[in-house]
Amino acid sequence: MTSDAFYRHLTAELDTLLAAGLYKAERVILDPQGTHIAAQAADGTSRKVLNLCANNYLGLSSDAAVLRAAHATLDSHGYGMSSVRFICGTQDLHCALEHALSRFLGMEDTILYAAAFDANGGLFEPLLGEEDAIISDELNHASIIDGIRLCKAQRWRYRHNDMADLERCLQEAASRARHTLVFTDGVFSMDGTVAQLDAMRTLCDRYGALLGVDDCHATGFLGASGRGTHEYRGVFGKVDIITGTLGKALGGASGGFTSARREVTGMLRQRSRPYLFSNSLAPVIVGASLAVLELLERSTALRDKLADNTTYFRRAMHEAGLDIKPGEHPIVPVMVHDAALAQRLSARLLELGVYAVGFFYPVVPRGQARIRVQISAAHSREDLDFAVTAFTQAGRELGLLKQEQA
Ligand SMILES: *Cc1c(COP(=O)(O)O)cnc(C)c1O
Repeated sequence: MTSDAFYRHLTAELDTLLAAGLYKAERVILDPQGTHIAAQAADGTSRKVLNLCANNYLGLSSDAAVLRAAHATLDSHGYGMSSVRFICGTQDLHCALEHALSRFLGMEDTILYAAAFDANGGLFEPLLGEEDAIISDELNHASIIDGIRLCKAQRWRYRHNDMADLERCLQEAASRARHTLVFTDGVFSMDGTVAQLDAMRTLCDRYGALLGVDDCHATGFLGASGRGTHEYRGVFGKVDIITGTLGKALGGASGGFTSARREVTGMLRQRSRPYLFSNSLAPVIVGASLAVLELLERSTALRDKLADNTTYFRRAMHEAGLDIKPGEHPIVPVMVHDAALAQRLSARLLELGVYAVGFFYPVVPRGQARIRVQISAAHSREDLDFAVTAFTQAGRELGLLKQEQA
């Protein structure tokens, strides 16, 4: 068969990934997402380990109140919509969640998607054409990159988080483009770097550009009341477009959204392909997400606990002699630099009961291998102490502790 060559080709490519240490294996978990998970080993046995790598920032993935809301919605609104929004896929709940998200984010309107990947994938093409320009951070999320690829607008990229380089792009675009949109991740997921939305707003105003942010790693907890990067940077209500996810802090199921002025969401409802041609979000997720937003509007307790946990963990790790990238975000990069060493550290941590995965080239630049820890509001002090003890022991064994290096 002629197709044999095709399958042999794929096998060879996969073998190459495996040999290069770039193959992504998937760990099977046998219980609900949480601070402690039953991780399955290769031999089929499992044990409970402390989980330090979920996007479960507020600990809501398996929260009792969220589960209750999900169960209640299952009973009141059914299981699936079997339709896109514009045929018969819009329930009262979908509209209510769009309103609630708009209010929470301080935006005029919101449109739901099956995922933030789709929100970004379907954002740019309906809004901008050949006469227009998109300027983006070189480290933006894959979904933003793909969304921009689908759009005919002229493209500029600025060096990561570099405001002078952004201004260069704005200057160049100003003379060539009708409308210009600057788009960035609110928080960059490998470092926890928070975009300088305040400086970006000033620059955008100077050149008459729109400003958009993908706030997936911020919505629900960054800023004094957890609204996101715009609140954290003091530009609440001053960002033109926010895309986000329901799949991280806001309960962690799945789903995404775009919030903006009505003209923008109005055009997206007419022309955004992932919205028009993909199924409506399941009612269970919509009902539970509404309960999450009510919870977050009532009290900042969860985001406050997360901020406390993050400060505590960052300080304890630093004092233990581990090399932590400074910052305030619950993404805590523990720098190892060498890729093989990062893998050994991750493996040793698992033996010690801590699940935290290593990241290395090409996910991060060469020589910047790391373990990315993600703190949750659901972690207890004992959990954090347990993690620091494990990192200290494994770090000592591998010669990673600063004060103990020759
Ligand atoms: C996680 C993430 C996404 C994708 O979100 P989904 O809702 O899972 O598709 C998009 N952008 C950024 C910056 C993210 O971190």
